[in-house]
Amino acid sequence: VRSMASEVDKALSAKLDRNQKTIFDRIISKEIPANIIYENDKLLAFHDVNPQAPVHFLVIPKKRIAMLDDAEDNDKDLLGELILTATKLAKEKLPGGYRLVINNGRDGCQSVFHLHVHILGGRQMKWPPG
Ligand code: IMP
Repeated sequence: VRSMASEVDKALSAKLDRNQKTIFDRIISKEIPANIIYENDKLLAFHDVNPQAPVHFLVIPKKRIAMLDDAEDNDKDLLGELILTATKLAKEKLPGGYRLVINNGRDGCQSVFHLHVHILGGRQMKWPPG
Protein backbone atom coordinates (compact mmCIF):
# COMPACT_ATOMS: atom_id res chain seq x y z
CA VAL A 1 0.00 0.00 0.00
CA ARG A 2 1.44 3.32 -1.10
CA SER A 3 1.92 5.98 1.58
CA MET A 4 -0.37 8.97 1.85
CA ALA A 5 2.57 11.36 1.40
CA SER A 6 3.39 10.02 -2.04
CA GLU A 7 -0.25 10.29 -3.17
CA VAL A 8 -0.14 13.92 -2.05
CA ASP A 9 3.18 14.43 -3.89
CA LYS A 10 1.60 13.03 -7.04
CA ALA A 11 -1.36 15.39 -6.72
CA LEU A 12 0.94 18.38 -6.12
CA SER A 13 3.01 17.60 -9.20
CA ALA A 14 0.08 16.67 -11.46
CA LYS A 15 -0.45 19.10 -14.32
CA LEU A 16 -3.98 19.94 -15.37
CA ASP A 17 -4.33 20.17 -19.15
CA ARG A 18 -7.94 19.70 -20.16
CA ASN A 19 -7.00 18.81 -23.76
CA GLN A 20 -4.50 16.17 -22.74
CA LYS A 21 -5.46 12.51 -22.80
CA THR A 22 -4.81 10.72 -19.53
CA ILE A 23 -3.85 7.17 -18.69
CA PHE A 24 -7.57 6.47 -18.17
CA ASP A 25 -8.25 7.20 -21.87
CA ARG A 26 -5.70 4.51 -22.68
CA ILE A 27 -7.43 2.12 -20.31
CA ILE A 28 -10.79 2.87 -21.97
CA SER A 29 -9.33 2.19 -25.42
CA LYS A 30 -7.57 -0.97 -24.10
CA GLU A 31 -4.18 0.38 -25.14
CA ILE A 32 -3.02 -0.45 -21.64
CA PRO A 33 -4.39 -3.26 -19.49
CA ALA A 34 -6.51 -2.86 -16.40
CA ASN A 35 -8.29 -5.26 -14.11
CA ILE A 36 -11.76 -4.43 -15.42
CA ILE A 37 -14.79 -5.13 -13.22
CA TYR A 38 -17.61 -3.70 -15.31
CA GLU A 39 -18.09 -1.93 -18.62
CA ASN A 40 -20.96 -0.47 -20.61
CA ASP A 41 -21.17 2.12 -23.37
CA LYS A 42 -20.78 5.06 -20.97
CA LEU A 43 -18.79 3.78 -17.99
CA LEU A 44 -15.81 1.65 -17.05
CA ALA A 45 -14.94 0.17 -13.64
CA PHE A 46 -11.51 -1.25 -12.81
CA HIS A 47 -9.33 -1.99 -9.81
CA ASP A 48 -7.01 0.78 -8.58
CA VAL A 49 -3.39 -0.10 -9.27
CA ASN A 50 -2.35 1.24 -5.82
CA PRO A 51 -5.10 0.07 -3.50
CA GLN A 52 -5.60 2.04 -0.29
CA ALA A 53 -7.97 -0.57 1.18
CA PRO A 54 -8.56 -4.32 0.70
CA VAL A 55 -11.11 -3.38 -1.97
CA HIS A 56 -10.33 -0.26 -4.02
CA PHE A 57 -11.71 0.25 -7.48
CA LEU A 58 -12.54 3.19 -9.70
CA VAL A 59 -15.58 3.95 -11.86
CA ILE A 60 -15.07 6.47 -14.65
CA PRO A 61 -17.19 7.95 -17.41
CA LYS A 62 -15.82 7.16 -20.87
CA LYS A 63 -16.52 10.78 -21.76
CA ARG A 64 -13.48 12.87 -20.95
CA ILE A 65 -14.41 15.17 -18.07
CA ALA A 66 -11.19 16.28 -16.38
CA MET A 67 -12.70 16.83 -12.95
CA LEU A 68 -15.91 17.40 -11.05
CA ASP A 69 -15.41 21.17 -11.58
CA ASP A 70 -15.95 20.61 -15.30
CA ALA A 71 -19.20 18.66 -15.05
CA GLU A 72 -22.10 20.51 -16.65
CA ASP A 73 -25.89 20.43 -16.41
CA ASN A 74 -26.06 18.11 -19.41
CA ASP A 75 -23.85 15.60 -17.56
CA LYS A 76 -26.59 15.11 -14.96
CA ASP A 77 -27.67 11.69 -16.24
CA LEU A 78 -24.09 10.53 -16.64
CA LEU A 79 -23.18 11.59 -13.10
CA GLY A 80 -26.26 9.81 -11.80
CA GLU A 81 -25.28 6.62 -13.63
CA LEU A 82 -21.73 6.96 -12.35
CA ILE A 83 -22.83 7.03 -8.72
CA LEU A 84 -25.53 4.39 -9.12
CA THR A 85 -23.18 2.00 -10.92
CA ALA A 86 -20.45 2.55 -8.32
CA THR A 87 -23.00 1.81 -5.61
CA LYS A 88 -24.35 -1.29 -7.35
CA LEU A 89 -20.85 -2.74 -7.68
CA ALA A 90 -19.95 -1.71 -4.12
CA LYS A 91 -23.06 -3.33 -2.61
CA GLU A 92 -22.20 -6.65 -4.26
CA LYS A 93 -18.62 -6.70 -3.04
CA LEU A 94 -18.92 -4.86 0.28
CA PRO A 95 -22.12 -5.75 2.12
CA GLY A 96 -20.67 -4.32 5.35
CA GLY A 97 -20.37 -0.83 3.91
CA TYR A 98 -18.00 1.19 1.79
CA ARG A 99 -16.90 4.71 0.90
CA LEU A 100 -17.18 6.69 -2.33
CA VAL A 101 -14.60 9.43 -2.89
CA ILE A 102 -14.16 11.99 -5.65
CA ASN A 103 -10.97 14.06 -5.42
CA ASN A 104 -11.11 17.43 -7.17
CA GLY A 105 -8.06 19.57 -7.92
CA ARG A 106 -4.78 20.01 -6.09
CA ASP A 107 -6.13 20.52 -2.60
CA GLY A 108 -8.50 17.62 -3.18
CA CYS A 109 -5.48 15.39 -3.94
CA GLN A 110 -6.47 14.68 -7.56
CA SER A 111 -3.61 13.23 -9.60
CA VAL A 112 -5.36 11.88 -12.72
CA PHE A 113 -7.39 14.50 -14.55
CA HIS A 114 -10.16 12.26 -15.79
CA LEU A 115 -13.19 12.22 -13.49
CA HIS A 116 -13.32 9.08 -11.36
CA VAL A 117 -15.12 7.78 -8.30
CA HIS A 118 -13.04 5.78 -5.83
CA ILE A 119 -14.84 2.92 -4.08
CA LEU A 120 -13.02 1.79 -0.95
CA GLY A 121 -13.88 -0.87 1.57
CA GLY A 122 -13.08 -4.18 3.16
CA ARG A 123 -11.81 -2.53 6.34
CA GLN A 124 -13.13 -0.08 8.90
CA MET A 125 -12.73 3.33 7.27
CA LYS A 126 -11.71 6.29 9.42
CA TRP A 127 -13.25 9.71 9.66
CA PRO A 128 -12.28 12.42 8.97
CA PRO A 129 -10.17 11.38 5.96
CA GLY A 130 -6.69 12.94 5.76
P1 IMP B 1 -6.80 10.63 -7.71
O1 IMP B 1 -5.69 10.92 -6.74
O2 IMP B 1 -8.17 10.80 -7.12
O3 IMP B 1 -6.62 11.39 -9.00
O4 IMP B 1 -6.72 9.10 -8.00
C1 IMP B 1 -6.07 8.53 -9.09
C2 IMP B 1 -6.03 7.06 -8.82
O5 IMP B 1 -5.75 6.38 -10.03
C3 IMP B 1 -4.98 6.65 -7.80
O6 IMP B 1 -5.61 5.95 -6.75
C4 IMP B 1 -4.05 5.74 -8.60
O7 IMP B 1 -3.55 4.68 -7.84
C5 IMP B 1 -4.95 5.28 -9.73
N1 IMP B 1 -4.26 4.91 -10.95
C6 IMP B 1 -3.31 5.61 -11.61
N2 IMP B 1 -2.92 4.96 -12.72
C7 IMP B 1 -3.65 3.83 -12.77
C8 IMP B 1 -3.70 2.72 -13.69
O8 IMP B 1 -2.98 2.66 -14.69
N3 IMP B 1 -4.59 1.71 -13.39
C9 IMP B 1 -5.37 1.75 -12.29
N4 IMP B 1 -5.37 2.76 -11.42
C10 IMP B 1 -4.50 3.78 -11.64
